[in-house]
This record gives sequence, C-alpha cells and structure tokens, in this order.
Amino acid sequence: MISFFLRRAVNVIYKIYTMMARSLQLHERAGSCLVIAPHPDDETLACGATIARMRDLGWRVSLIVLTDGTPSEATAESSEQSPSTKRRHELAQACVLLGLDLKDCVFLDYPDSNVESCFDNLLKTLATQIKARKPTLLIAPYPYDRHPDHRTAAKAVMTLVQEGLIQARILYYPVWLSFQGVLYHVFNPLRLLRVWRTACGPYKIQKDNAFLAYYSQNAGAQSAQDLLKGPWRRYFGPYELFFEMDAQASFIQHKGFLFSRQMAAAAPVMATKRDEVSL
Ligand SMILES: [Zn+2]
Repeated sequence: MISFFLRRAVNVIYKIYTMMARSLQLHERAGSCLVIAPHPDDETLACGATIARMRDLGWRVSLIVLTDGTPSEATAESSEQSPSTKRRHELAQACVLLGLDLKDCVFLDYPDSNVESCFDNLLKTLATQIKARKPTLLIAPYPYDRHPDHRTAAKAVMTLVQEGLIQARILYYPVWLSFQGVLYHVFNPLRLLRVWRTACGPYKIQKDNAFLAYYSQNAGAQSAQDLLKGPWRRYFGPYELFFEMDAQASFIQHKGFLFSRQMAAAAPVMATKRDEVSL
C-alpha cells in the first residue's frame, strides 16, 4: 500500500518537473554524445527518443552499458539462452532500433546492483572512453536516484568532472527518482532553471519499439498502448526529462544516499555518521 502511494507520488512529481522544465534545443548540426546506462533499458526509458533524434540529426552517439541487468528480469521463460545472453541480445536489438551503431556501444559486465565494487575500473574505463570519443554532450544517471548502480555511475562522472577530465555538457536523467532529488531543488529553487526536457515527437515510435524489444523484462507489454498502462508509463509520455547539476557539486553520502552539503547543513541528522565523498 505504501509503495503504491510512493509510486503515485513519484509519478506526480515527475509530471510536475516535466511541466516546469525548459525545452532543450539540440543543435541541428552533428554533435557527439556519450550515454551511460547502468542497466540495459535505462538508455531507452530515459532518453530513447532523444538518442533517436540525435542520430537522425547526424550526431555520433555512443553508449556504455555497465551491467547485463540479469537480476531484474521480470519473467522466467524457459529458454536455452542464459538470462545474460538474452539481455545482451535484447539490448543489441534496442540499440539498432534507436539508430545506434553497435560499434559505438560498449557493454561492460559489472555485477548488477554492485557496480560500486568496480568503481576504480569504472573511473578508468570512463576516462578512456571519454578521451577517445570526445563527446560534446554526456548523458548520465541522476545522482539522486534510488538505485545504487545509478548513483555509482553519477558519482564516477562527477569525480571525473572534478578531476578536469570531462569538458562536455552533462545532463543527468532520473529513472528511480528519489525524494532526496526533490529536496535538492527545494533547498535551492533556482536549480529548477536547469531542469530540461526534450520532446519525443516522431521518435517516440522508435523508443516504444526499443523498449518492447526488452521482452524478458517489460512486464508483458506487447504494444505502445500497453506501455502507457504499465509500471513504466511515466517514461512514455511526450517528453524526456534531464537535470543539470552544479559544476562543482559537493555531496555527502549517508546510508547509501547522496545529500548536497547545503541539505546536510540544514538537517544535521543527515550529517551524522557520514562518509564524505570528494566529488
Ligand atoms: Zn537501471
């Protein structure tokens, strides 16, 4: 019951953010973008239409997927393929449907739900990929996400920013939006000026089809209408949502969640027993 109301509340908050967001104009000229997805499907749910639009405009879009996402499989169909192989196959199909070139997709095999254990390797890999691909736009998970792998990916990006290794504009996407993320804006409403949305427009069809390719985990959805009724419906509206963060953001990690220093100062309980992360 509580989770039902929490889910409804997050859906409403997501809608409010989308209504308040400013429209992000992608340059018509070809650019270069790197998308980081902790799990197969994050790229589609969060920014599938934006990827398809950029590809249509001639952008080079690269994708790094951190895990094979095996434990989050929704259905246990009998199959000769291992869950990992099946997910990789679905991911490749989704990438093609979004217009991605598979040679621009890097699939890492970090353990699902424990990317943190590979943090040093993740830092090195991201630094190498960014140096090689030179993106002008980086799309990464939101630090205030409820999933630990999303927070770890964001932490890696912010660490590289502080080390001066990322010059690209960075947009962070929410998948499992947390209330800490809402507090981040409550404590400084001016940050709402850096909430952006892109219109899915004609690229929504590609996004729908890409997500339907994840047949082992899309809760039985078989059509675009099913997606609008299912648990994923907030990701299949007319817009995709992104946040920009303070360039030199500094966070405190408490019980696995990140809080800005401003929040921690205002609510001392968050600041006890804290592990500071130098971000
Ligand atoms: Zn994910």
